[in-house]
Amino acid sequence: MNILITAGPTREFLDPVRFISNPATGTLGYLIAAKAALLGHSVTLVTGPTFLKIPDGVIAVRVTGALEMRDEVLNRFPFADALIMTAAVSDWRPVQRFSEKLKLKKPWNLKLIPNPDILKAVARIKRKNQVVIGFALETESLVENGWKKLKEKKLDMIVVNDLYNFGQGNTNSAIFILHRDGTMKDCTGFSKARLASYLLTLLDRSGNPIYLTVCKKKGGK
Ligand code: C5P
Repeated sequence: MNILITAGPTREFLDPVRFISNPATGTLGYLIAAKAALLGHSVTLVTGPTFLKIPDGVIAVRVTGALEMRDEVLNRFPFADALIMTAAVSDWRPVQRFSEKLKLKKPWNLKLIPNPDILKAVARIKRKNQVVIGFALETESLVENGWKKLKEKKLDMIVVNDLYNFGQGNTNSAIFILHRDGTMKDCTGFSKARLASYLLTLLDRSGNPIYLTVCKKKGGK
């Protein structure tokens, strides 16, 4: 398969030396990319700034901001069988990017505007035989918010995890994989490496998401 993966944070610059971002390391996306390449898939990794080494056999496309990431994803998605969107895209960017370093040494207000939602743009051009997997970090009501995002972004699957999986990760963190057919799997305690391998077992060669003899049925549905 042709697998398109995004990873890492985005950086939204307000002047040449300052940006807003988040602590995402890109670890999970890079692990998925490395494993997918080992399995023989053709892998493109659209990556925000990280300190990680590009895995062997993976085509890397380096980006900085959310708009750049959106353009690279939308250009490549038509050729992909699956998109695995692990990137922690910044929800906002400064309205203006100043060309010189800001010297203002007094309180001031930074005006932000929302970034476009890349997955919602993907949903508009998605074909039936393409699989799209999103990720969400939630600080409350993980599963409930996960179902909401799966619907809003028209995803095939979403991986929801709590704050403790952010950055380097923590093997006690809560992780759930929700599937558009209403099934879900509790992957709490999975390491990032195990989660990466497991996710790749959920895709079949014809581009369909495989689901899931082992998962629990969501209550009532
Ligand atoms: O930030 P949020 O919880 O909405 O992220 C959920 C999913 O949406 C993630 O897969 C993330 O990569 C994606 N996303 C996106 N465009 C954004 C923000 C998030 O595609 N502007």
